[in-house]
Amino acid sequence: MAPPRARTGLPLGKVLVIGGALFLIFLLYRHMHPPPPARPTASLPPEEIRALTGRQIALVAGHTGSDPGATCADGLTEQSVNRRIVEHAAEILRSVPAQVMVLQEYDPRLDGLQADVFLSVHADSCLPLSGFKVARWARSPHPARDDRLVRCLRYHYWLITGLSPDPEHVTEDMTEYHAFHRVAPDTPAAIIEVGYLGGDRELLTQRPDLPALGIVEGLACFLGGTP
Ligand SMILES: [Zn+2]
Repeated sequence: MAPPRARTGLPLGKVLVIGGALFLIFLLYRHMHPPPPARPTASLPPEEIRALTGRQIALVAGHTGSDPGATCADGLTEQSVNRRIVEHAAEILRSVPAQVMVLQEYDPRLDGLQADVFLSVHADSCLPLSGFKVARWARSPHPARDDRLVRCLRYHYWLITGLSPDPEHVTEDMTEYHAFHRVAPDTPAAIIEVGYLGGDRELLTQRPDLPALGIVEGLACFLGGTP
């Protein structure tokens, strides 16, 4: 007959008491040192945060309050894609903090709108193509200023999303966009087609934070006075 095995370790009661005490200490520590909230601005460099702080930024979520825009066979609508990207961009900008106005397609506030920058966000058709476009009003009262806005957006959107700029397919729908006639002439204005619902669907629907960040960085480049 084998001798009885020596009992090792602590009795269950003691383990529970010690475990409970450690857990209470952890809760107390957490209460005194809460984890920092998730900050979307964490990825923005300090010079961009400086450029955006306190600025008035007006964004149109294309087709909202009006119509679905381009609609794919499976029901994906351009309006839903535009809205999510604008919501992400607005969230980043508000955390800077900047003063963000999110407008509908035919928002009455567009008339005479005064802002440090205005951008309307749209997406392209469900065709299996890829690429993005940025344009300003063909008859802009300040073409050099608005060209700089277009260049800033084009460069940073390309840098963040990896999509190819497609300036050859900019249409009159973009260069004669209705809101360009309505905002105040002193408001720098542009329109972006963030990609195709067809070929760029994964980026636009699965990673809307990337197009949003590309837009925010493009606006920071313009507002920061980058030539
Ligand atoms: Zn559109």
